[in-house]
Amino acid sequence: MSLFDSMIKHGMPLVPKRIVGRVARRYVAGETLDDAVHTVRTLNDEGAMATMDVLGEEVQARDKAEEAIQEYLRVLDVIQSEGLDCNVSIKPTLLGLRIDERFCRDNIARIVDGAKSRGNFIRIDMEDHTATDATLRIFHELQEAHGNVGAVVQAYMRRTLADIGDLLHLKPNIRLCKGIYREPRAIAWKNFDTIRANFMAALDKLLGAGCYVGIATHDEHLVWAGMEAVDRLRLTPQEYEFQMLLGVDPDLRRIILDHGHRLRVYVPYGRDWYPYSMRRLRENPTVARHVMRAMVGLGG
Ligand SMILES: Cc1cc2nc3c(=O)[nH]c(=O)nc-3n(C[C@H](O)[C@H](O)[C@H](O)COP(=O)(O)OP(=O)(O)OC[C@H]3O[C@@H](n4cnc5c(N)ncnc54)[C@H](O)[C@@H]3O)c2cc1C
Repeated sequence: MSLFDSMIKHGMPLVPKRIVGRVARRYVAGETLDDAVHTVRTLNDEGAMATMDVLGEEVQARDKAEEAIQEYLRVLDVIQSEGLDCNVSIKPTLLGLRIDERFCRDNIARIVDGAKSRGNFIRIDMEDHTATDATLRIFHELQEAHGNVGAVVQAYMRRTLADIGDLLHLKPNIRLCKGIYREPRAIAWKNFDTIRANFMAALDKLLGAGCYVGIATHDEHLVWAGMEAVDRLRLTPQEYEFQMLLGVDPDLRRIILDHGHRLRVYVPYGRDWYPYSMRRLRENPTVARHVMRAMVGLGG
């Protein structure tokens, strides 16, 4: 990342929301469920699967969590009625984790139930380290009770290999990613190569134990490592999948699909797009160019 990109990245909170919205448009399907359905249908037509995410996090009021549950049940209905190849991703802090863990677990259980009756699957996203223990507890309990739930582990966390060890008896369906939150060095690896190495160690541990893994990365080196691992283990394309975020590197998406792998795209939508978009923009290696273009009215 250039010095200028790095300056913009650190100054992102100062960029007007209108500009952030314009630049971040590519990462979000739109504000409505119809927008998300349209995006998922396009991806399905390209041969990719999808996972829909209702944007929002850190709710402090019970009625907001209830609104999110109702929206997720609508999502599950629409996926079924439209025949989309799509599952669902949820964030515990949107569903009340900051209010009370049991309240959150019960809320997620309602969505998991709704998914199960429609033959669908729920992925519980992993948020920052203050949510990790509770999220894994909720995953553990709901997976044992329902069987249609997946978790996420983050390669930048020092605890991740141990967490995988604790989960293996469930033969879990795990999304493996690097991790996006700003974590203290005491608990998270910071060096780029170390995070890559931990990603590969985690992948080997999961695949070696026969788990279904969502290999979630746009890092070409890790995509290669994933392809090498599934080839070495002689896995069929039904035994794993690659995953990417909407708006990031569609060329790599096409390459993975053309190699005969299954690939799922994360499709977020909703009115509460700001925190998600800020995280994406901070990861964009050419963020400065996009922000400057938007500032002078050339679009994002
Ligand atoms: C499907 C999916 C689900 C995820 N779920 C979670 C989760 O639950 N919890 C969590 O903490 N994190 C999650 N993440 C985010 C993940 O942890 C990383 O922050 C993100 O994927 C970037 O890491 P990377 O492996 O792509 O490698 P990087 O080294 O960050 O990126 C590799 C290359 O991808 C391109 N790239 C990456 N991001 C962008 C961007 N925003 N805009 C343009 N180009 C970009 C760049 O060319 C970059 O060089 C998820 C990621 C994916 C793909």
